[in-house]
Amino acid sequence: MSANDSLISELQLLKTQLNEYNYQYYVLDTPTVPDSEYDRQLRRLQEIEAAHPELITADSPSQKVGGAPLDAFRQITHELPMLSLDNAFNEDELFAFEKRLKDRLKRDVEIDYSCEPKLDGLAVSILYENGQFVRAATRGDGRVGEDITANVRTIKNVPLSLRGDDFPARLEVRGEVFMSLAGFAALNAAQKASEKKVFANPRNAAAGSLRQLDSRITASRPLMFYAYSVGVVEGERQALADKHAERLNQLTHWGMPLSPEVAVAKGAKGCHAYYQGLATKRAALPYEIDGVVFKVNDIALQQELGFVARAPRWAIAHKFPAQEEMTKLLDVEFQVGRTGAITPVARLEPVFVGGVTVSNATLHNQDEVARLQVKIGDTVIIRRAGDVIPQVVSVVQEQRPDDARDVVFPVACPECDSHVERLDEEAVLRCTGGLICPAQLKESLKHFASRKAMDIDGLGDKLVVQLVDMGLVKTPADFFRLDVAPIAAMERMGEKSATNIINALDKAKQTTLPRFLYSLGIREVGEATAANLANHFKTLDAVMNATLEQLVEVNDVGEVVAAHVRHFFAEEHNQTVIAQLQELGVNWPDIEDKSGTAQPLLNKTFVLTGTLSAMGRNEAKVVLQNLGAKVSGSVSAKTDYLVAGEKAGSKLTKAQELGVTVMTEDEMLALFAQY
Ligand code: NAD
Repeated sequence: MSANDSLISELQLLKTQLNEYNYQYYVLDTPTVPDSEYDRQLRRLQEIEAAHPELITADSPSQKVGGAPLDAFRQITHELPMLSLDNAFNEDELFAFEKRLKDRLKRDVEIDYSCEPKLDGLAVSILYENGQFVRAATRGDGRVGEDITANVRTIKNVPLSLRGDDFPARLEVRGEVFMSLAGFAALNAAQKASEKKVFANPRNAAAGSLRQLDSRITASRPLMFYAYSVGVVEGERQALADKHAERLNQLTHWGMPLSPEVAVAKGAKGCHAYYQGLATKRAALPYEIDGVVFKVNDIALQQELGFVARAPRWAIAHKFPAQEEMTKLLDVEFQVGRTGAITPVARLEPVFVGGVTVSNATLHNQDEVARLQVKIGDTVIIRRAGDVIPQVVSVVQEQRPDDARDVVFPVACPECDSHVERLDEEAVLRCTGGLICPAQLKESLKHFASRKAMDIDGLGDKLVVQLVDMGLVKTPADFFRLDVAPIAAMERMGEKSATNIINALDKAKQTTLPRFLYSLGIREVGEATAANLANHFKTLDAVMNATLEQLVEVNDVGEVVAAHVRHFFAEEHNQTVIAQLQELGVNWPDIEDKSGTAQPLLNKTFVLTGTLSAMGRNEAKVVLQNLGAKVSGSVSAKTDYLVAGEKAGSKLTKAQELGVTVMTEDEMLALFAQY
């Protein structure tokens, strides 16, 4: 085969593959490979075509927009085509884009750009006639889209009539329909609970929700819309601005929602600074964006530059590093946690995703493995968005090798060989070994020493593991029996570090009842519950002797948590350790009895989010609880106040959606000052 023949067959293969991916993505809303893989193949196709323009055919995926509309929907022919965008994957490509513009304009003008987040959803056209919403369509193949009027009508932030009286008689607004991260999480939780399809990412969820034949389903989904351009305009009562960004502002004046991140920048340099700024902000945004879009701001220049087959010449999308990638599942191992929960962990061929190299991802539990139908040897799609731990979101079934193996769950604990059980109401398998299981022992000792628990400075996870492995520590009480000498003799330790640890242990003996209760690692007793128990019962003895009926009277304690608390304190070995800890000097000040004093925030529910600068979230929580308030981890209709610190994200959006009163940190401090 000649070099040319092999290029032609590579090209053919790429075309077939990309057409198939387009069909799965645009028509079925169920992509089988991550966007990064699609983008790589499209890039390769474009490279070959650029070197051999004679090989470009009209049906090449490089010349087409999107996918054909589904027959099930009525079709709408766009009066002006809806195009795609060219991509830049790095800074050089952004500067090359600007150079191409200037070459084409044949002059060295300073170009201003409208900079916009590239929302990860799907493009929609909405037509208003005399200010009334009359029609909405998907982009489809760019020329013909699907009639989704009834569905878009149900999107809460899409106005059904425009504001004011100076809008054009016919106005086509274009923008993106997407799902916020909070909406996506809530939808998937509901889908899971009713054993329905779980969506891999917010984009698929948005597309699947919008392209529904029954608009009642769309109405039940948390979709949002942001405008980003103007299509057809007729009968202007007020001239449209001659700058793109100003046009967007005109749209907001008529009531269309616009992303608050839109800004104007000078030259490719300014664009790059915007890109970097938004990249830093990305994880804190309440919705997903896969890059930024730069559009020449001057409409006259846009017109001069014009279009190529599938995209305008005057715009470019600068993509962020992908949050989804594919890689091989090499093995599945089972990790035993503090409470004995056995978690399957995927060992992966290392892959760069979401800005870091990932070689492990959680597979959660048996149900999740069954849902994914994953086998060892499979090619899997890994997702890492923000700081969330990497997840396996799906399997590329077509790439399953013949020797792929089933994931077999252990019948005995991989650490201590105790038998494992799965309770009816639980999704997880649990080792029944308790503290004879070295994994559970190590995890509970790590927890005991950790910052929010007994806060033993210098006693990190690695040291705890070493101490257990050397047989020096078997219970939390043993920590307080340690001497300098054996610690000093340990690897990478010395007299000085060992003395520091002994001093830190000494200091940690003086603690608080909420911390002490939390450090015991009782199942489902987190910091907040520990504080509630302490504040309610005031003394350790009272908590230890509380009946189930008394326990459920505590804020946020239900029957399950109450049973865990009872069960823990009923165990003789736990009672012994607690007594030993107290004999060794662990103590805490009495909790003031506030029952006589006013609790001005009694029965008010607060949620804290974002970074609080004057006092940490934990401290604020304690103050609020002392004032009688409940502090919850998630926003719901029952929330009275959301305290939003810096970089507040999805909780803030949800609070705004639900009409919950939002307070700044300063307002919260002012409230504290009143009491
Ligand atoms: P694109 O997503 O790269 O760019 C165009 C689209 O960006 C517009 O149609 C619009 O929906 C969106 N957009 C968001 N914010 C915008 C803004 N401010 N201004 C203008 N447009 C904005 O191009 P595309 O043609 O829609 O699709 C390509 C994308 O889809 C790529 O990311 C590709 O990886 C993915 N894709 C994936 C598969 C797969 O199998 N995984 C298949 C096909 C396409």
